[in-house]
Amino acid sequence: MYYLDNNGTTQVAPEVLEAMLPFYTQHWGNPSSAHRSCRPVKEALHQARVSIASLINAQPEEIVFTGCGTESNNTAIHSALCRDAGKKHLITTAVEHSANLKYGQFLQSHGYDVTFLPVEEDGSIDICMLQDLIRPDTAMVSIMWANNETGVLFPIEEVAAICRSKEVAFHTDAIQAAGKVTLDVQSAEVDYLSLSAHKIYAPKGIGALYVKKGTPYSSYLFGGGQESGRRAGTENVAGIVGFGRAAQMAFEDTARSQQTETLRNRMENGILSNIPQTSRNGCKSQRLPNTSNIAFDGVEGEALLLRLDRLGICASSGSACTTGSLKPSHVLLAMGVPARRALSSLRFSLGHYSSEEDVDYLLKHLPEIVSELRGQSPKPQSLEVVT
Ligand SMILES: *Cc1c(COP(=O)(O)O)cnc(C)c1O
Repeated sequence: MYYLDNNGTTQVAPEVLEAMLPFYTQHWGNPSSAHRSCRPVKEALHQARVSIASLINAQPEEIVFTGCGTESNNTAIHSALCRDAGKKHLITTAVEHSANLKYGQFLQSHGYDVTFLPVEEDGSIDICMLQDLIRPDTAMVSIMWANNETGVLFPIEEVAAICRSKEVAFHTDAIQAAGKVTLDVQSAEVDYLSLSAHKIYAPKGIGALYVKKGTPYSSYLFGGGQESGRRAGTENVAGIVGFGRAAQMAFEDTARSQQTETLRNRMENGILSNIPQTSRNGCKSQRLPNTSNIAFDGVEGEALLLRLDRLGICASSGSACTTGSLKPSHVLLAMGVPARRALSSLRFSLGHYSSEEDVDYLLKHLPEIVSELRGQSPKPQSLEVVT
């Protein structure tokens, strides 16, 4: 398998699995119990909290473990909305992960006012526009650190400063940025920050939310007193331990991003220079080091994805299949990319285990598949497009 979909999920690192196993076989106690079985478990939870806090330069008490990144995002927004019932305005962007978009749509149908900040053609946001959109009744601004489809990075430090000056709570979904760029909640003064383990070589089903000390917080789940009363439900102990180990590895390995970027650039330049009528979606420089989103004019992205899959290559299209017809990526549409071009775009995302060989294999097969598909593609007018 040639896995080029690391923004979708990552492989569990062997070191992470090794750290987790004792918490299934030996130390399987409930950390909330009163007897001895809980002691090593409690200690391990604490260590994981320390490692995750270190990754973003926070304090361990500021980390709340959740069931996934989606829950972290939902919890942060929920918290801000509970703070003041009179504030019913939320600002987020048009290119967020569905975890934010769908929650925003839910809130809209329940009496809230939600502004989806538009983006420029290169995927960037307009800081001045954001500043003007903040109102006295704005409860929260929630803007991702890095976009999962294009890799475009947002100026989180500046956004945080604006929110601070306007006294509006600020949340950032840093799920794609973690482990790829430096995250520092002291220099970018955010109030809430979301992380997800399965994007940094730990298992699925475990997330974390950073909540700055002194920031109002409202539980999203009600029940037991776990996480200092902030998140009910018995902890996913092994998952948390794995997450902690992965955060530690991400923190210690600073050279990796540079290597990934070199490989990504080789892949991207290889595609753009060897295959005619291809172009990059999203700006070139303010971008994650591992992500490349490419439009293949005149090719159906889904067809290309299937052909690549047959060769063992895993990539991704941002399009969603709803009731049998394809919906182009909301991220690309928000950037003003025409629907047809959005449907001809694929995302390639590299990771720690991506090799020169993976990229060579892709570059060897892609030109031929693309020209074949162009030969067979239906006339552009006949492509059924749903917007
Ligand atoms: C993967 C992802 C999420 C969702 O995280 P889960 O742990 O899968 O719920 C949210 N935001 C971004 C940017 C992501 O890439």
